[in-house]
Amino acid sequence: MHIAARIARMAESSTIAATARGKALAAKGLPVLSLSAGEPDFDTPENVVAAAIDALRRGETHYAPTAGTSEARQAVARKLRDENGLGCTAAEVTITVGAKHAIYLALQTLIDPGDEVLLPTPAWVSYAPMIELAGGVVVEVPGDPARGYLVSAEEIERAITPRTRALVFNNPINPTGTVHSADSVRAIAAMLAGHPRITVIADEIYEKLIYPELDPQANTCSIGSCSEVAERTITVNGMSKAYAMTGWRIGYAAAAGAGAAAIREMIKLQGQMTNGIASFCMPAVVEALTNSSASVESMRTAFAARARLVSEAIATMPMLSAPTSTAAFYSFIQLGTALGRVSPAGRRLDSPSRFCEALLDEALVATVPGEDFGGAGRTAFRISFACSEADLREALGRLRGFLEQLTD
Ligand code: PMP
Ligand code: GLU
Repeated sequence: MHIAARIARMAESSTIAATARGKALAAKGLPVLSLSAGEPDFDTPENVVAAAIDALRRGETHYAPTAGTSEARQAVARKLRDENGLGCTAAEVTITVGAKHAIYLALQTLIDPGDEVLLPTPAWVSYAPMIELAGGVVVEVPGDPARGYLVSAEEIERAITPRTRALVFNNPINPTGTVHSADSVRAIAAMLAGHPRITVIADEIYEKLIYPELDPQANTCSIGSCSEVAERTITVNGMSKAYAMTGWRIGYAAAAGAGAAAIREMIKLQGQMTNGIASFCMPAVVEALTNSSASVESMRTAFAARARLVSEAIATMPMLSAPTSTAAFYSFIQLGTALGRVSPAGRRLDSPSRFCEALLDEALVATVPGEDFGGAGRTAFRISFACSEADLREALGRLRGFLEQLTD
C-alpha cells in the first residue's frame, strides 16, 4: 500500500517508543524500572472519577458539543481568568482530545507552508513533527544546559525572520524540568511587541508542578497574561499531568479577544476530526478544575521530594550533569564523557540512543534518549521521576552502577 510521503518521513514519538520498549521487556518477566513515561504514577482523584461515573449513569452518553459543554468551557475560562490572568470567556475556549491535539489544531490553523516556527530546544518530541505536518519549518532556538536550557528574549529575537509566524513556548519545560521566571516571560512578551506577525502557542501543561522547595526563585506567569501578546497567544493546557489523568485524553486551548478567531477555526477543524472528547468526561473537567486543589498539592509535594532526590543523586554521579529540576517531573541529563565509552556488554555508547539502549538491556532501566528533543538533547537523555520513590532510588542505584562499569 502507498504511504503518503509526509507520514512516511515523520519520526515516531520517541517518548512513546522508549516507554513501549521498557514495557515489552517487563512483559517478558524482566524487572525493568521505567523512568521513561511522562505520566504521574498517582490515581486520578476519586471525586473526578465519581463525576464521570455519575454522568455515565445519568445517561450522558451522546455527542457533546464539539468544543465542550458550556459548563466545562465556563470552568476552563474561569480557571484561566482567576489563576492565569487571561481575559477569555467560555466562547473563547475549546476542549480537546489531550493537550496534544490542541497543539496540533493550533499549528494546523496558524501555519501555511514555508512559515517558520520558533522552537526553543530541547523541546518535547512532538512539536517538530506537528509543525512539519502543518507545512511549517522548525527554527530551533537552542538553550544552554548551564542556564537550565532556558532561552532569553534576545536569543529568540535573533532567530526571527520575515517568515516567522509562531513561537511554541512550553513553560515549565518538558524535557528539561526547568521553568522561565515571570521576569523572563515578561521580557519575551515585551520583545514580541515589536513583532506583531508572531502568534504564541503557550503550552502550560506543567504549570501546577513547580517546586520553590528546590529553588525559591522557581516561579512563573502565563505569557497570555502579558498585554503585548494577550490577543495573539493560544494558551494550551490539560488534565493529564496536574490531575493524573493521562488516559482520559483531555486538554484545552483558549485565546482572548482577537485571538478567539483562531479558536473558532480550531473548533471548525475539530468538528471535522474528533468531534471533541467523550461527553461523560465533561463533568470531570469541571470537578477537576474546581474541587481538586488539595489532591494536586499533595501530588506536587511528592514530585518536589523526588526532584530533590534525583537532583542530589545526579550531582554526585560520575560523568553526568543536569540542572536542578525545579518543575515538571523530568531531569535532562548531559552525558558528558560517558559518550564514546563502552558498556559492560561491549557496546560503544556513541550517542544518547545507544546509551539508553544499553542502560535498558544491561541495567533494566528505561529512559528516553535526547536526540529527538533537539538542541543540547543531542548529547543528553531524559529521566522521568513520575514513579514511586522506591523505584526511583533503585533505578538511580542501577544507573550509578552502570556508569561505574563503563570502560574506554
Ligand atoms: N505538552 C507537553 C509539554 C507534554 O509533555 C505532553 C505530554 N503528555 C503534552 C503536551 C500532551 O499531553 P496530553 O495530550 O496528555 O494532554
Ligand atoms: N508527554 C509525555 C512524555 O513526554 C507522554 C508521552 C508523549 O505524549 O510524548 O513522556
